[in-house]
Amino acid sequence: PFDAIEKTGDDAAVDLSAYKDVWVFAEQRNGKLMNVALELIGEGRRLAKEISEDTKVCALLVGDGIDHLEQECYEYGAERVVMIQDPLLKNYTTDGYTKVIVDAVEEYKPELVIYGATHIGRDLAPRVAARLNTGLTADCTRLDIKVSSYIEYAKNNTTLDTSTLDPNDPSTGIKQTRPAFGGNLMATIICPKTRPQMSTVRPGVMQKRDRVAGATGERVDYKPQISESDIRIQIKDIVKSAKELVSLTDADIICSGGRGLGDPSGFELIKEFADKVGGVVGSSRAAVDAGWIDHSHQVGQTGTTVKPKIYFACGISGAIQHLAGMQTSDIIVAINKDPDAPIFEVADFGIVGDLYKVIPEIIAEWDNA
Ligand code: FAD
Repeated sequence: PFDAIEKTGDDAAVDLSAYKDVWVFAEQRNGKLMNVALELIGEGRRLAKEISEDTKVCALLVGDGIDHLEQECYEYGAERVVMIQDPLLKNYTTDGYTKVIVDAVEEYKPELVIYGATHIGRDLAPRVAARLNTGLTADCTRLDIKVSSYIEYAKNNTTLDTSTLDPNDPSTGIKQTRPAFGGNLMATIICPKTRPQMSTVRPGVMQKRDRVAGATGERVDYKPQISESDIRIQIKDIVKSAKELVSLTDADIICSGGRGLGDPSGFELIKEFADKVGGVVGSSRAAVDAGWIDHSHQVGQTGTTVKPKIYFACGISGAIQHLAGMQTSDIIVAINKDPDAPIFEVADFGIVGDLYKVIPEIIAEWDNA
């Protein structure tokens, strides 16, 4: 599974033992935690316990007037919340958030910091990494910390200089996996010598933990040193674009259409289908490239990664780049007139037929179901 390897960070010696705990940037917007933040708290907890029982997962909350989010972080698995609040942090700014996170990281020295690969996470994480002179792996789909498997891997790969690793250091074995070269291979990237190790992780690929009502943890209030002169841009107004209304990552049901729709009007049927079953409309890239639907609906490697309870793929062949964004859905239903279409290989239920006949039948039957 490991086809490529990159090494990040420079050769400056870092005392690895000084770093401890897993931090998750718990991204919030308008006082509401993003789904990916909850997914990453669950993943961070798993990683922390793989490092050692006393390694903690900490949710990093940045903003203003966000005390109410602390409890939710504990309930989804955080053991500690590092709270950074200031009126200047009310809205996200690259400068402001970078400054306070870098300061907090330098003070508390987490071993690993993970962010959602959202617009904000993708903007923030590289800035923080550059300031801290550490590595960053963007857009990960998998994180592993098993020392043993890492060492085994290192031994079998001539491209990795194993002399840089200390097998006795339990913090050495962190592997970050991400698609590379158009999704044709999975690259494994390590930061053997720099800390903290940092990753952005795609929304929808990690599992949220079951919510435990009333769970508690330890709160640390970090008083940020920030002034207006630290922030070079001013937010005058926030205008929500119509595109943002498509929330593929939060949807339980997605009805996606592809080139098999034949023309843009096919999305009217997909929309009717989605409305009937309480879902949202997704699409393949071919449909987006044809100009039939906006890119915000695109599922796949260069679109959104989704994990709904039910994913309907209608007139979609099942190219690897599309599968990369939806194959972990709980149930996949494929409707395609070609019985050999690759989508049927990942489908739990396959319907061979013309979508213009099949979908109206499902719509008609839905109310009776
Ligand atoms: P097609 O492959 O043309 O399939 C259409 C299907 O519809 C066929 O299987 C056909 O049998 C079926 N069909 C036709 N008529 C009917 C009908 N009346 N009823 C039922 N079935 C019918 N693709 C993505 O989707 N998402 C991505 O993020 C993405 N990223 C990419 C990144 C890179 C770097 C590259 C190189 C490609 C990427 N692609 C992506 C494109 C991908 O390779 C495929 O070209 C694309 O997914 C094909 O879309 P499709 O399945 O809709 O079209």
